Amino acid sequence: MQKRDYYEILGVSRTASQDEIKKSYRKLALQYHPDKNPNNPDAEKKFKECAEAYEVLRDADKRARYDRFGHEGMRSSDFGGFRDVDDIFSAFGDIFGGGFGGSIFEEVFTGGRSRSGRARSYTGTAGSDLKIKLKLSLEEVAKGAKKNLKIKKHVSCSTCSGTGAGSSDGYRRCEYCNGSGEIRQVSRSVFGQFVNITPCSNCGGSGKILSIPCKSCDGEGRKQSNETIEVTIPAGVSEGQYLTLRNQGNAGRRDGPAGDLIVVIEEEHHDSFIRKGDDIIYDLLVSYPVAVMGGDVEVPTLNGRVRMKIDPGTPSGRILRMRGKGIQHLNGGGSGDQLVRINVWVPKKVTAKEKELIRELEKYQNIHPKESDQSENKSFFEKIKDVFN
Ligand SMILES: [Zn+2]
Ligand SMILES: [Zn+2]
Repeated sequence: MQKRDYYEILGVSRTASQDEIKKSYRKLALQYHPDKNPNNPDAEKKFKECAEAYEVLRDADKRARYDRFGHEGMRSSDFGGFRDVDDIFSAFGDIFGGGFGGSIFEEVFTGGRSRSGRARSYTGTAGSDLKIKLKLSLEEVAKGAKKNLKIKKHVSCSTCSGTGAGSSDGYRRCEYCNGSGEIRQVSRSVFGQFVNITPCSNCGGSGKILSIPCKSCDGEGRKQSNETIEVTIPAGVSEGQYLTLRNQGNAGRRDGPAGDLIVVIEEEHHDSFIRKGDDIIYDLLVSYPVAVMGGDVEVPTLNGRVRMKIDPGTPSGRILRMRGKGIQHLNGGGSGDQLVRINVWVPKKVTAKEKELIRELEKYQNIHPKESDQSENKSFFEKIKDVFN
């Protein structure tokens, strides 16, 4: 089938701004919305077509690729393969004024075959969703990561292509419902005649009975298998957020649609860094001479070690901000900062020679705190308390 041009679908020019595209999509989506056009497959088709066009044109990268290569340049993961109307809403919730529903980050994946292509009736049951936890280090969170997930799941049987049938005539028509999948019962009451329609219990509503099962899967149409699935985690995710990989869950029984794979993010404890939003807190020990006279020190960051200048007269507790050295924001637009908290280090043991020098230093009044320093220190610590709470 010839695919329509995305610009044509949205009724905008090839030079349309993001705003124009968004506006036009919004208008069309409301026009073709299934709630406004009940039982109108043509409107539903247009509604989905608009969503696909919008998904590509709203993204600068995908749009550029589409401009250069047309539909051939699109990958299956470029657009959602939306399962239904609700899917479109969860992906573009913002355009209708709704949010994404909490802090959930969702990625729509097709896994090579779209759900809409499998909307035909099937004889089996849908596969269940799978949920797995994925531990990420702060370094991985900061940059994003590609991970291989090893999971045990049901996959479609290759011998019977998931149908469960051992031959092309493996299914026979159900004799209870004559292949319609439903049982009609006429009953009478004081209000008149009722036709009661229920799914056929003999065939489970499919209208078909498996008579020659596939030997490879015992007619199930699926098998247990150990699979490796590569998943790309965007930078800036947080504990508890999850990604939904469409159709990567358990395969359905007898050609039923596959479930989803839900990957829940867990953050590993880091030995040196504390995450606070997209900022990173690091406690740095500096020597007394450096705190007093200033100096150049090396500070670890999520991106390797970086040199940092310490001003003369830097007290314990001072926070130095390293701009952009924190975690990349999930929705783009820069990164958080690294906050370096200075701690003046005190050695546990000193040699006789060192002791002698410190005693000498002790004789000078200037190095002893005064009453006024005490109150200044108190207000300083009250101020920085706010930064970490
Ligand atoms: Zn099979
Ligand atoms: Zn039946």
